[in-house]
Amino acid sequence: MLEINNLAVTLNASRGIIRAVRNVNLAVKPGEIHGLVGESGSGKSVTARSILRLNDEAVSLYDGSISFEGNDVMSLKRKEILALRRHKISMIFQDPVTSLDPLQRVGNQVAEKLRLAGTPKNEIQSKTQSLIESVGISPAAERMYQYPFQMSGGMLQRINIAMALAGNPKLLVADEPTTALDVTVQMQILRLLKKLQKDFGMTIIIITHNFGVVAEICDTVSVMYKGVIVEQGDAESLFEHPSHTYTKGLMAAIPKSGPEQELPSPMNGNLVDPLDSKISIPVPGLDYVRTPVMKSLSPTHSCAEEISTVEEQ
Ligand code: ADP
Ligand code: MG
Repeated sequence: MLEINNLAVTLNASRGIIRAVRNVNLAVKPGEIHGLVGESGSGKSVTARSILRLNDEAVSLYDGSISFEGNDVMSLKRKEILALRRHKISMIFQDPVTSLDPLQRVGNQVAEKLRLAGTPKNEIQSKTQSLIESVGISPAAERMYQYPFQMSGGMLQRINIAMALAGNPKLLVADEPTTALDVTVQMQILRLLKKLQKDFGMTIIIITHNFGVVAEICDTVSVMYKGVIVEQGDAESLFEHPSHTYTKGLMAAIPKSGPEQELPSPMNGNLVDPLDSKISIPVPGLDYVRTPVMKSLSPTHSCAEEISTVEEQ
Protein backbone atom coordinates (compact mmCIF):
# COMPACT_ATOMS: atom_id res chain seq x y z
CA MET A 1 0.00 0.00 0.00
CA LEU A 2 2.74 2.44 0.99
CA GLU A 3 6.32 2.20 -0.13
CA ILE A 4 8.98 4.69 0.83
CA ASN A 5 12.30 4.32 -0.94
CA ASN A 6 15.45 6.10 0.08
CA LEU A 7 13.60 9.11 1.43
CA ALA A 8 15.77 12.04 2.44
CA VAL A 9 14.32 15.31 3.71
CA THR A 10 16.66 18.23 4.12
CA LEU A 11 15.33 21.34 5.83
CA ASN A 12 16.70 24.78 5.13
CA ALA A 13 15.94 26.04 8.62
CA SER A 14 16.95 29.33 10.20
CA ARG A 15 19.46 27.50 12.41
CA GLY A 16 21.11 25.90 9.39
CA ILE A 17 20.71 23.00 7.00
CA ILE A 18 19.15 20.08 8.82
CA ARG A 19 19.25 16.60 7.39
CA ALA A 20 16.08 15.65 9.21
CA VAL A 21 15.62 12.29 7.54
CA ARG A 22 17.81 10.18 5.32
CA ASN A 23 17.84 6.78 3.70
CA VAL A 24 14.39 5.89 4.95
CA ASN A 25 12.98 2.71 3.45
CA LEU A 26 9.59 1.59 4.60
CA ALA A 27 6.87 -0.66 3.23
CA VAL A 28 3.45 -0.94 4.82
CA LYS A 29 0.95 -3.58 3.75
CA PRO A 30 -2.84 -3.06 3.67
CA GLY A 31 -4.43 -3.61 7.09
CA GLU A 32 -1.13 -3.42 8.92
CA ILE A 33 -0.41 -1.26 11.98
CA HIS A 34 3.14 0.01 11.63
CA GLY A 35 4.93 1.71 14.52
CA LEU A 36 7.51 4.41 13.92
CA VAL A 37 9.47 4.62 17.15
CA GLY A 38 12.31 6.82 18.32
CA GLU A 39 13.21 9.63 20.66
CA SER A 40 12.25 13.24 20.10
CA GLY A 41 14.03 14.76 17.09
CA SER A 42 14.77 11.43 15.41
CA GLY A 43 12.78 12.36 12.29
CA LYS A 44 9.49 10.52 12.88
CA SER A 45 7.18 13.48 12.23
CA VAL A 46 9.13 14.70 9.20
CA THR A 47 8.86 11.19 7.72
CA ALA A 48 5.14 10.97 8.46
CA ARG A 49 4.39 14.45 7.14
CA SER A 50 6.25 13.62 3.94
CA ILE A 51 3.63 10.97 3.15
CA LEU A 52 0.97 13.71 2.97
CA ARG A 53 3.43 16.35 1.78
CA LEU A 54 2.69 18.33 4.93
CA ASN A 55 6.25 19.55 5.54
CA ASP A 56 6.75 23.23 4.81
CA GLU A 57 7.53 22.89 1.11
CA ALA A 58 9.32 26.24 0.99
CA VAL A 59 12.16 24.93 3.14
CA SER A 60 12.03 21.17 2.51
CA LEU A 61 14.07 19.41 -0.09
CA TYR A 62 13.00 15.86 -0.84
CA ASP A 63 14.94 13.05 -2.37
CA GLY A 64 13.83 9.46 -2.93
CA SER A 65 10.30 8.28 -3.59
CA ILE A 66 7.02 7.68 -1.79
CA SER A 67 4.48 5.53 -3.52
CA PHE A 68 0.92 5.15 -2.24
CA GLU A 69 -1.26 2.54 -3.95
CA GLY A 70 1.19 2.64 -6.83
CA ASN A 71 1.06 6.44 -7.29
CA ASP A 72 4.11 8.62 -6.78
CA VAL A 73 3.23 11.10 -4.01
CA MET A 74 6.22 13.29 -4.83
CA SER A 75 4.98 14.16 -8.29
CA LEU A 76 1.39 15.02 -7.29
CA LYS A 77 0.06 18.47 -8.06
CA ARG A 78 -1.41 20.67 -5.32
CA LYS A 79 -5.00 19.66 -6.17
CA GLU A 80 -4.12 15.98 -6.21
CA ILE A 81 -2.42 16.27 -2.82
CA LEU A 82 -5.59 17.82 -1.36
CA ALA A 83 -7.66 14.98 -2.83
CA LEU A 84 -5.23 12.47 -1.34
CA ARG A 85 -5.63 14.07 2.10
CA ARG A 86 -9.43 14.15 1.82
CA HIS A 87 -10.08 10.65 0.58
CA LYS A 88 -7.07 8.40 1.05
CA ILE A 89 -4.73 9.38 3.86
CA SER A 90 -5.65 11.15 7.10
CA MET A 91 -3.44 12.35 9.89
CA ILE A 92 -4.04 12.98 13.58
CA PHE A 93 -1.70 14.82 15.88
CA GLN A 94 -0.44 14.84 19.44
CA ASP A 95 -2.44 17.72 20.86
CA PRO A 96 -6.18 17.10 20.50
CA VAL A 97 -7.05 20.60 21.70
CA THR A 98 -5.13 22.72 19.20
CA SER A 99 -6.30 20.51 16.32
CA LEU A 100 -9.87 21.70 16.91
CA ASP A 101 -11.65 25.03 16.54
CA PRO A 102 -12.63 26.14 20.07
CA LEU A 103 -15.60 28.14 18.77
CA GLN A 104 -17.31 25.37 16.80
CA ARG A 105 -19.45 22.54 18.12
CA VAL A 106 -17.56 19.27 17.70
CA GLY A 107 -20.32 17.81 15.51
CA ASN A 108 -19.98 20.74 13.10
CA GLN A 109 -16.27 20.09 12.81
CA VAL A 110 -16.87 16.45 11.91
CA ALA A 111 -19.66 17.52 9.51
CA GLU A 112 -17.31 19.95 7.75
CA LYS A 113 -14.85 17.12 7.06
CA LEU A 114 -17.71 15.00 5.71
CA ARG A 115 -18.75 17.88 3.44
CA LEU A 116 -15.18 18.28 2.16
CA ALA A 117 -15.06 14.55 1.46
CA GLY A 118 -18.09 14.97 -0.81
CA THR A 119 -20.78 13.43 1.41
CA PRO A 120 -24.30 14.26 0.09
CA LYS A 121 -25.91 17.06 2.10
CA ASN A 122 -28.87 15.00 3.32
CA GLU A 123 -26.55 12.34 4.78
CA ILE A 124 -24.19 14.62 6.68
CA GLN A 125 -26.23 14.86 9.90
CA SER A 126 -26.70 11.10 10.29
CA LYS A 127 -23.13 10.30 9.25
CA THR A 128 -21.76 12.83 11.74
CA GLN A 129 -23.66 11.08 14.50
CA SER A 130 -22.60 7.60 13.45
CA LEU A 131 -18.94 8.64 13.13
CA ILE A 132 -19.04 10.10 16.63
CA GLU A 133 -20.65 6.90 17.85
CA SER A 134 -17.98 4.78 16.13
CA VAL A 135 -15.21 6.47 18.11
CA GLY A 136 -16.93 5.53 21.35
CA ILE A 137 -18.64 8.78 22.37
CA SER A 138 -22.11 8.40 23.76
CA PRO A 139 -24.74 9.59 23.61
CA ALA A 140 -23.47 10.89 20.26
CA ALA A 141 -26.79 12.59 19.49
CA GLU A 142 -26.23 14.90 22.46
CA ARG A 143 -22.48 15.22 22.64
CA MET A 144 -22.15 16.27 19.00
CA TYR A 145 -23.61 19.63 20.04
CA GLN A 146 -20.92 20.27 22.65
CA TYR A 147 -18.00 22.65 22.28
CA PRO A 148 -14.40 21.44 22.70
CA PHE A 149 -14.11 23.04 26.18
CA GLN A 150 -16.91 20.78 27.37
CA MET A 151 -14.92 17.64 26.61
CA SER A 152 -11.90 15.90 28.16
CA GLY A 153 -8.61 15.41 26.29
CA GLY A 154 -9.42 11.78 25.54
CA MET A 155 -12.86 12.71 24.16
CA LEU A 156 -11.30 15.44 22.01
CA GLN A 157 -8.79 12.99 20.57
CA ARG A 158 -11.76 10.74 19.72
CA ILE A 159 -13.34 13.69 17.89
CA ASN A 160 -10.09 14.22 15.98
CA ILE A 161 -10.15 10.54 15.03
CA ALA A 162 -13.79 10.86 13.89
CA MET A 163 -12.75 13.83 11.71
CA ALA A 164 -9.87 11.80 10.30
CA LEU A 165 -12.30 9.01 9.39
CA ALA A 166 -14.72 11.31 7.53
CA GLY A 167 -13.17 10.70 4.12
CA ASN A 168 -13.08 6.94 4.74
CA PRO A 169 -9.27 6.92 4.44
CA LYS A 170 -7.27 3.85 3.57
CA LEU A 171 -4.32 5.00 5.66
CA LEU A 172 -4.37 6.80 9.00
CA VAL A 173 -1.15 8.41 10.15
CA ALA A 174 -1.27 9.05 13.90
CA ASP A 175 1.57 11.22 15.20
CA GLU A 176 1.97 10.59 18.95
CA PRO A 177 -1.83 10.38 19.35
CA THR A 178 -1.69 9.43 23.01
CA THR A 179 1.32 11.40 24.25
CA ALA A 180 -0.73 14.32 25.60
CA LEU A 181 -3.22 12.07 27.42
CA ASP A 182 -3.41 10.45 30.86
CA VAL A 183 -2.06 6.91 31.02
CA THR A 184 -5.47 5.25 31.43
CA VAL A 185 -6.90 7.27 28.55
CA GLN A 186 -3.86 6.43 26.38
CA MET A 187 -4.75 2.76 26.50
CA GLN A 188 -8.39 3.46 25.57
CA ILE A 189 -7.32 5.45 22.50
CA LEU A 190 -4.90 2.69 21.43
CA ARG A 191 -7.66 0.10 21.74
CA LEU A 192 -9.98 2.36 19.75
CA LEU A 193 -7.40 2.64 16.95
CA LYS A 194 -7.00 -1.11 16.87
CA LYS A 195 -10.79 -1.58 16.72
CA LEU A 196 -11.15 1.00 13.94
CA GLN A 197 -8.37 -0.68 12.00
CA LYS A 198 -10.48 -3.84 12.07
CA ASP A 199 -13.92 -2.26 11.55
CA PHE A 200 -12.87 0.04 8.70
CA GLY A 201 -10.15 -2.22 7.26
CA MET A 202 -7.73 0.66 7.66
CA THR A 203 -3.97 0.69 7.57
CA ILE A 204 -2.33 2.69 10.37
CA ILE A 205 1.07 4.22 10.91
CA ILE A 206 1.48 5.18 14.54
CA ILE A 207 4.31 7.38 15.68
CA THR A 208 5.51 7.16 19.23
CA HIS A 209 8.55 7.49 21.46
CA ASN A 210 7.11 4.77 23.67
CA PHE A 211 7.80 1.11 23.01
CA GLY A 212 4.85 0.21 25.22
CA VAL A 213 2.54 1.61 22.53
CA VAL A 214 4.22 -0.61 19.94
CA ALA A 215 3.79 -3.65 22.14
CA GLU A 216 0.11 -2.87 22.53
CA ILE A 217 -0.99 -2.55 18.91
CA CYS A 218 1.72 -2.76 16.23
CA ASP A 219 2.29 -5.55 13.71
CA THR A 220 5.52 -4.13 12.32
CA VAL A 221 8.01 -1.56 13.60
CA SER A 222 10.69 0.83 12.39
CA VAL A 223 13.07 2.27 14.96
CA MET A 224 14.48 5.69 14.07
CA TYR A 225 17.52 7.40 15.48
CA LYS A 226 19.01 10.68 14.26
CA GLY A 227 17.10 10.66 11.01
CA VAL A 228 17.79 7.09 9.93
CA ILE A 229 16.05 3.78 10.50
CA VAL A 230 18.30 1.62 12.66
CA GLU A 231 16.09 -1.43 13.02
CA GLN A 232 12.99 -2.68 11.28
CA GLY A 233 10.86 -5.77 11.38
CA ASP A 234 7.79 -7.56 12.62
CA ALA A 235 6.94 -6.54 16.16
CA GLU A 236 7.38 -10.02 17.58
CA SER A 237 10.92 -10.53 16.25
CA LEU A 238 11.92 -7.06 17.32
CA PHE A 239 10.66 -7.63 20.84
CA GLU A 240 12.18 -11.07 21.17
CA HIS A 241 15.49 -10.25 19.52
CA PRO A 242 16.17 -6.51 19.65
CA SER A 243 19.46 -6.13 17.88
CA HIS A 244 20.55 -2.50 17.64
CA THR A 245 21.99 -0.89 20.78
CA TYR A 246 19.49 1.95 20.41
CA THR A 247 16.49 -0.41 20.19
CA LYS A 248 17.70 -2.20 23.30
CA GLY A 249 17.99 1.16 25.05
CA LEU A 250 14.45 2.16 24.08
CA MET A 251 13.11 -1.15 25.30
CA ALA A 252 14.92 -0.83 28.57
CA ALA A 253 13.13 2.49 28.97
CA ILE A 254 9.69 0.82 29.12
CA PRO A 255 8.61 1.29 32.71
CA LYS A 256 8.36 -2.00 34.56
CA SER A 257 6.74 -2.71 37.86
CA GLY A 258 8.58 -4.45 40.66
CA PRO A 259 11.94 -3.77 42.28
CA GLU A 260 13.87 -0.70 41.22
CA GLN A 261 14.96 -0.97 37.60
CA GLU A 262 18.25 0.32 36.26
CA LEU A 263 18.03 3.42 34.10
CA PRO A 264 18.95 2.90 30.44
CA SER A 265 22.40 4.20 29.57
CA PRO A 266 22.61 6.95 26.97
CA MET A 267 23.68 6.10 23.44
CA ASN A 268 27.12 6.94 22.22
CA GLY A 269 26.41 8.95 19.12
CA ASN A 270 27.91 6.87 16.38
CA LEU A 271 25.39 7.78 13.72
CA VAL A 272 25.11 10.87 11.61
CA ASP A 273 24.16 14.06 13.40
CA PRO A 274 21.40 15.89 11.49
CA LEU A 275 23.14 19.17 12.27
CA ASP A 276 26.49 17.97 10.95
CA SER A 277 28.43 21.08 9.97
CA LYS A 278 30.20 19.32 7.11
CA ILE A 279 26.99 19.34 5.15
CA SER A 280 26.70 22.79 3.70
CA ILE A 281 24.86 22.42 0.41
CA PRO A 282 22.00 19.96 0.05
CA VAL A 283 22.28 18.14 -3.25
CA PRO A 284 19.57 15.60 -4.02
CA GLY A 285 20.94 12.17 -4.75
CA LEU A 286 24.40 13.04 -3.57
CA ASP A 287 25.46 11.98 -0.13
CA TYR A 288 28.39 13.42 1.74
CA VAL A 289 28.12 11.09 4.64
CA ARG A 290 27.77 7.36 4.53
CA THR A 291 24.55 5.98 5.94
CA PRO A 292 24.46 2.76 7.90
CA VAL A 293 24.06 -0.44 5.93
CA MET A 294 21.08 -2.59 6.88
CA LYS A 295 21.86 -6.23 7.63
CA SER A 296 19.12 -8.77 7.28
CA LEU A 297 18.63 -10.84 10.45
CA SER A 298 15.68 -12.81 9.07
CA PRO A 299 13.30 -12.32 6.13
CA THR A 300 11.22 -10.01 8.33
CA HIS A 301 13.83 -8.32 10.51
CA SER A 302 16.79 -6.08 9.69
CA CYS A 303 19.20 -3.95 11.65
CA ALA A 304 21.70 -1.19 10.83
CA GLU A 305 25.38 -2.01 11.10
CA GLU A 306 26.85 -0.22 14.10
CA ILE A 307 29.95 1.42 12.76
CA SER A 308 31.11 4.98 12.80
CA THR A 309 29.39 6.43 9.79
CA VAL A 310 30.87 9.91 9.58
CA GLU A 311 33.22 9.83 6.66
CA GLU A 312 34.18 12.59 4.27
CA GLN A 313 34.18 11.88 0.58
P1 ADP B 1 10.44 13.63 15.90
O1 ADP B 1 9.07 13.68 15.32
O2 ADP B 1 11.06 12.29 15.80
O3 ADP B 1 10.52 14.17 17.28
P2 ADP B 1 11.01 15.53 13.81
O4 ADP B 1 10.71 14.71 12.61
O5 ADP B 1 10.01 16.53 14.23
O6 ADP B 1 11.40 14.57 15.02
O7 ADP B 1 12.38 16.32 13.57
C1 ADP B 1 13.54 15.81 12.96
C2 ADP B 1 14.60 16.89 12.89
O8 ADP B 1 14.16 17.95 12.04
C3 ADP B 1 14.91 17.53 14.23
O9 ADP B 1 16.29 17.84 14.25
C4 ADP B 1 14.05 18.78 14.20
O10 ADP B 1 14.59 19.77 15.04
C5 ADP B 1 14.10 19.16 12.75
N1 ADP B 1 12.89 19.89 12.31
C6 ADP B 1 11.66 19.36 12.15
N2 ADP B 1 10.79 20.28 11.67
C7 ADP B 1 11.50 21.42 11.54
C8 ADP B 1 11.18 22.77 11.09
N3 ADP B 1 9.95 23.09 10.67
N4 ADP B 1 12.18 23.66 11.12
C9 ADP B 1 13.41 23.33 11.52
N5 ADP B 1 13.78 22.12 11.93
C10 ADP B 1 12.85 21.17 11.95
MG1 MG C 1 7.32 14.36 16.26
